[in-house]
Amino acid sequence: MVTAMHCHCCDCQKSTGSGKATIIAIPESSLKVKGTLKYYSVVGTDGATVNRGFCENCGSPVMSVVVGLEGWEGIKLIKAGSLDDSSWVTVNASIWKSSARHWDAVREELPTFEHNPQN
Ligand SMILES: [Zn+2]
Repeated sequence: MVTAMHCHCCDCQKSTGSGKATIIAIPESSLKVKGTLKYYSVVGTDGATVNRGFCENCGSPVMSVVVGLEGWEGIKLIKAGSLDDSSWVTVNASIWKSSARHWDAVREELPTFEHNPQN
């Protein structure tokens, strides 16, 4: 795991049907995926392509890959809620505070970024 964070971007809100996605960043080389995911591609707020992988049977969002955004090469973003055991996950930051909803407020005790961390 590189980090785990709450992402409050509009795209994560749409894809989860909630106020944020809790995502775990994992290097591609450390990840083994069994089975196949269906992918839906969107252009994120920063202009990068986000390939959102979901279970073709139940529709649950599982994993995303960001293409064309510096610093995210080779990183897979796993939806924490998709894991059978997420007890080991520690959330380190909140990102995209700029689009957070009042009904799912940013945890201000965490390092918080208005957009992506490098912005
Ligand atoms: Zn997001």
